[in-house]
Amino acid sequence: MTESTYRIQGATGDWEVVIGLEVHAQITSSAKLFSGASTEFGAEPNTQVSLVDAAMPGMLPVPNQECVRQAVRTGLALNAEIHKYSRFDRKNYFYADLPQGYQISQLYHPIVGEGVIEVALDEKDPDSEVRQIGVERIHIEQDAGKLMHDQHPTMSYVDLNRSGVALMEIVSRPDMRSPVEAGAYVKKLRSILRYVGSCDGNMEQGSMRADVNVSVRKPGDELGIRTETKNVNSVRFVQQVIEIEANRQVDVLEAGGEIVQETRLYDPDRNETRSMRSKEDAHDYRYFPDPDLLPLELTDDFIADCKSSLPELPDAKRKRYETELGLTTYNAAVLTAEAETARAFEVLLKETAGKQGKAETDVATQVANWSLSIAPGVQKALEVTADHEHNTPAANAAILAMVAGGSVSGGQAKEIYEIALKTGRDPEEIADTDGLKQTSDTGAIEEEIEKILEANADKVEEYRGGKDKLFGFFVGQTMKAMKGKANPQVVNELLKKKLG
Ligand code: ADP
Ligand code: MG
Repeated sequence: MTESTYRIQGATGDWEVVIGLEVHAQITSSAKLFSGASTEFGAEPNTQVSLVDAAMPGMLPVPNQECVRQAVRTGLALNAEIHKYSRFDRKNYFYADLPQGYQISQLYHPIVGEGVIEVALDEKDPDSEVRQIGVERIHIEQDAGKLMHDQHPTMSYVDLNRSGVALMEIVSRPDMRSPVEAGAYVKKLRSILRYVGSCDGNMEQGSMRADVNVSVRKPGDELGIRTETKNVNSVRFVQQVIEIEANRQVDVLEAGGEIVQETRLYDPDRNETRSMRSKEDAHDYRYFPDPDLLPLELTDDFIADCKSSLPELPDAKRKRYETELGLTTYNAAVLTAEAETARAFEVLLKETAGKQGKAETDVATQVANWSLSIAPGVQKALEVTADHEHNTPAANAAILAMVAGGSVSGGQAKEIYEIALKTGRDPEEIADTDGLKQTSDTGAIEEEIEKILEANADKVEEYRGGKDKLFGFFVGQTMKAMKGKANPQVVNELLKKKLG
């Protein structure tokens, strides 16, 4: 069972860590939040900037309905309250990557209210503790541009491609208590966003990043003063920031100092956090409703339509894989952790059931074992990935059908799969042409068994006299005589009959 209590031992006793995360997730949409410019990643700097994004005087923002829709779908997926009335506010500040001089966000009336995310500390462990992490709100806002200072010793550059791209800010309650739990929360949130299709969850490209709020307290005390470490862009970094900050705060407090509420930066190279600005010099953002935008008023039909467009979500899918398909907790958790894995599994499951003329429930375990251990093992040895052109559902299903029918052994299945991946040849044809088949021909196997029993009359006596261990010897001899190509199950049955 995964440990659920995380404590930092100090000279004055144990300290508890309290964590709240603000996750910025880029909304999947081909156009920006208030303009038609493209959101494609990796384009040449400043090639995807409309007059709105560049904040030319007189330009007016027009909300992109798709972004609103994705935020609502996300809220519904988190069982959150959807606010039929929401409004955009201006958050005023001056910075070179923000030509407008303000960011359009939603402070007072966010589009999504209270929700919850169910997080297992270790989903693959059936005994792992499951916790409910509260989501306080989700609001929609614009991203800023990007500054590059290191291109030339005397110059700074600004790229406005990202300026105006739609973000959802998903704010958690201070409900997490350990780095493991915070990591599990980020992974679960990312998984849900990917299932919903509202964010690609790509943390390396910056489509998802977290502001990590950390405080410490003696268990049972009031919440302590927190620090907020900005823009952390991987699960591992989130966990490291928590460890570093919690330990730093304990050191400060135990030395008689005070924690100041401040914004910090994480430096992965030195694995430390540094103060960026304290609350005293916090910005006064002078929030006010954006006069260029009407409030958003959602109709019941719009919300119902968002709801009906949701796919089966990871928790429901995981439970169904266990109860309906009879998979183990571990297999169900691994297969449903990522939408892409579950999708591939379901395609192969359907194909396999069809090919074998069986119900999906009857082949689910076979397909799960193949998909999770055997196929990836072969792919790894060949250094190819699951999206390899020859790794088709039809080819995989053909191999599984031969295994289920007994004409191909587990070992032969791997060899056939390897050849199929390398060449794209048809698995049934490979089995025939390359002699990768086992025989279930009882006549041929019986013939060999008789010869073996005759040549080993003494061992047959011993076996019959109670030396059960010798059964393996006879199996081995028979398989050897059949050049490894006999169906082991048939060999076992025939030997039992002859020796019995
Ligand atoms: P602000 O509006 O200043 O950003 P919020 O109250 O909205 O502050 O909180 C922002 C984030 O900080 C939330 O994710 C919340 O859970 C977290 N948080 C608030 N108080 C604490 C605390 N004492 N320790 C750790 N996290 C906290
Ligand atoms: Mg904040």
